[in-house]
Amino acid sequence: MIRNRPLSSATALAQAGHFIDPETRAVVPPIQSATTFARDADYQTKGYVYSRYGTPNYDHVEDLVAELEGGAASLVFASGLAAATAVFETLRAGQHIVAPQIMYHGLQDWLRIISERRGIGLSLVDATDPAAIAAAVRPGETALVWIETLLNPTWGVCDIAATAEIAHRAGARLGVDATVSPPVTCRPLDHGADIVFHSTTKYLNGHSDVTGGVLTVRKADEHWDDIVNVRKYVGGVMGPFEAWLLLRGMRTLSVRYQRASENALAIVRHFDGHGAVDAVLYPGLETHPGHQIAARQMTAGFGGMMSLMIRGGAEAALSVAKKVQLFMPATSLGGVESLIEHRATVEGPASLTPKNLLRLSVGIEEASDLIADLEQALAG
Ligand code: PLP
Repeated sequence: MIRNRPLSSATALAQAGHFIDPETRAVVPPIQSATTFARDADYQTKGYVYSRYGTPNYDHVEDLVAELEGGAASLVFASGLAAATAVFETLRAGQHIVAPQIMYHGLQDWLRIISERRGIGLSLVDATDPAAIAAAVRPGETALVWIETLLNPTWGVCDIAATAEIAHRAGARLGVDATVSPPVTCRPLDHGADIVFHSTTKYLNGHSDVTGGVLTVRKADEHWDDIVNVRKYVGGVMGPFEAWLLLRGMRTLSVRYQRASENALAIVRHFDGHGAVDAVLYPGLETHPGHQIAARQMTAGFGGMMSLMIRGGAEAALSVAKKVQLFMPATSLGGVESLIEHRATVEGPASLTPKNLLRLSVGIEEASDLIADLEQALAG
């Protein structure tokens, strides 16, 4: 804050929330590896008791993420799924979830399992269509509507404000997986969401070297207390070194995201209408059905995630994934290096992902190199 003027996200990120160590004036925090914290002569603590409940290195990340999201509180976890499943862990038998048909497949697989095991209703719908969500919610029974901005891996756009209104009218909370649209471009809480989730393994850390997750809420209410207890008692905690690395990675999020967005747009413009490509899926493309909503919700670019539907079906798509020389044929996303993946192979038999779809996580390399690589793979 400068004279009551909130910091822009780029500034808050670069300075890790204007971090200066109170003891040493160091501009980078130390790693606090202690698992336990001694009480003083009056048997008081300085807010830290035991590492599973919280450590200074979590606080640095959590304070920064809460500020970026405009939330009341944040909580880091050992992985994205440890964070996301902590939200679902608070649900009881007889309650009901609405989630997207097309979403991160790992979480959807888990929702199916807990739905059956715990007697929790689950409706999977076209989450880009508010009418489909409105038809699926069960007032008084639906506890959580879960969407993604954007839907992975087809990059359909969910209207956060419209979905929040539907969820709230039914007495439910809205949770948003914003992993692919970090708070430099999209702040779901501003559009009415109650909980925002990120796999920090992706854009927030951005270097494909730390696994983690974070939740942020608009209001730190009783439901948040439940989630805090899940981390405390189930114990899916991040290590302090990972939290420290995550904070370091986040310092460059703004420039990484901007560069990845520019690169993706250059690739999209080049391959849109290309003879070897049936379609390019990217919300920044004016012809994308969700473009108008994306433009409203994403204020600083559409990111580095896109998909190419390869002409010739699954075999042609797999052949491209095998022929690339710069794009790395690996899963995950949001890192500085560009990745390519045949999602149907990874998602397995339940996958609704088109078989000719290649997901690209565009990094921060030179766009012309990436375009040349795809051209040679498509030509081959
Ligand atoms: N949400 C999305 C959109 C993802 O892409 C992923 C991981 O691929 C996750 C959640 C899960 O996060 P993690 O792998 O960090 O547990």
